Amino acid sequence: MSTKKRQFNIAICGFGGMGNWHRETIERIEDLHLVGSFDIREERQAFAREHGVEPYPSYEAMLADPKVDIVTLAVPNDLHRPMAIAALRAGKNVVCEKPVTLSSIDLQQMIDVADATGMLLTVHQNRRWDEDFVCARKVIAARTLGPVFRVESAVLGCRGIPGDWRQEPEHGGGMILDWGVHLLDQICQMFPKRKIRTVYATVDHVTNELVDDGFYTDLTLDNGVVAHVEVGTSHFIGKPRWKIFGRDGSAEIDWGCRGRIVCVTDRSRNDAVPIRTAAGLTKTMAPRTDDTIKELPLPAVHSDIRDYYRNVMDAIDGLAEIEVKLPQVMRVMKLMEAIRRSAEERRIVPFED
Ligand code: NAD
Repeated sequence: MSTKKRQFNIAICGFGGMGNWHRETIERIEDLHLVGSFDIREERQAFAREHGVEPYPSYEAMLADPKVDIVTLAVPNDLHRPMAIAALRAGKNVVCEKPVTLSSIDLQQMIDVADATGMLLTVHQNRRWDEDFVCARKVIAARTLGPVFRVESAVLGCRGIPGDWRQEPEHGGGMILDWGVHLLDQICQMFPKRKIRTVYATVDHVTNELVDDGFYTDLTLDNGVVAHVEVGTSHFIGKPRWKIFGRDGSAEIDWGCRGRIVCVTDRSRNDAVPIRTAAGLTKTMAPRTDDTIKELPLPAVHSDIRDYYRNVMDAIDGLAEIEVKLPQVMRVMKLMEAIRRSAEERRIVPFED
C-alpha cells in the first residue's frame, strides 16, 4: 500500500523578512507547493513576483482560492489573531508566526475558532529546531552533568529593537513577545513533565519607553531546577547562548553548537591553588586542578527545520500529532503574562500548582 501523501498548497500572507524566509524554506520541501503570497506593500508584492511567486491582489482573494490548503501568517503580531480567525473560517489550515497573538484572552478566541472549524492552527516555534537547543536538551538527557540544578538561556544583542512595528505596543512589540516567546517555549520543551511553580522577572527599558527592550526571569520548577532566561538589546558584551549546571559538571553552548562540557573526575580530591587578589585570597572559589576534571566535547546533533512543515502536513493528514500544540502555546502565553506581572508588581508570582 502506498503511504505517499498528497501535495499541499500553501500561501504566505505578509511577505517581509520572515515571509520570505518561509518562501525559501517551503521551496526546499517536497510535497509542499507555494501557490501565492500577499503583502499590503506593493514593493513586497513586486519582490514576490521577482522570486517567482504570484501575489494575490488581497488577503480575501487568497482565502477564497480553493486550492490553498495552508496559510502561513508572517504579518506583524497584532494581525495574527484576526487574520488567523479569518483563514480558519475560510476552511484553511493556519501556520501562524510567533508570538501567536498578544494575550491569552486573544489566543483563547483563536483556539475556539480552530475547534469550531476543525481546521489546524499551529505556531511557528521554529527555534525548537535550533541546534543549540537540541544540543542543550541532549546534554541534560545524557545525565553527563549529574542532576541539573540550573539552566541559563540568554540572547543578548546590542542593536536595540528594530525601528519598526516591534517598538509599538499596539502591534505587539517588545522583546518578551519577540524573543521571550522562543526562549520560554524552549524551557517548557526542555522539561516537559515539570511544572513551573514560580516566576520572578525584571524588565528593561534602556532604549524604549513604550515596550520592553529586554527582560530577565527566573522560573523555579517543581523539582527545584531554576531556569534563568535573559533577553537584551543593549549588551555590547554578550553571554553564551546556554549555560547548564549540574552537580557533577557544567556545560556551555553557544550559537552553532560551539562550546564545551567540564565534569569532575575525582570529587574526593578537592585541592586547589588559591586565587590571590590585591585585597584577599580565596580557595573556595579557586578552580579545581586539571587532574580532577575532564573536558568533553558537546554531543553531535542534527536538525532540519523542514521537519517543521513536514510535521504540519503529517498532522493535517492524520499521520502524526502536531508538534507545536495549542495548550503548549497557551502555557507560554500565560508565562509571558506572569513575567510582566512579576516585573510590574516587583514580586515572585506563583504560576502552576
Ligand atoms: P516585517 O515587518 O519584515 O514583515 C511584515 C510584513 O507584513 C511586511 O512586509 C508588511 O508590509 C506586511 N503586512 C502588514 N500588514 C499587512 C496586512 N494587513 N496584510 C498583508 N501584509 C501585511 O516583519 P517580520 O520580521 O517578517 O515579522 C513578521 C512576523 O514574523 C512577526 O509575527 C514576527 O514576530 C515573526 N518572526 C518570526 C521569526 C521566527 O524565527 N519565527 C523571525 C522573525 C519574525
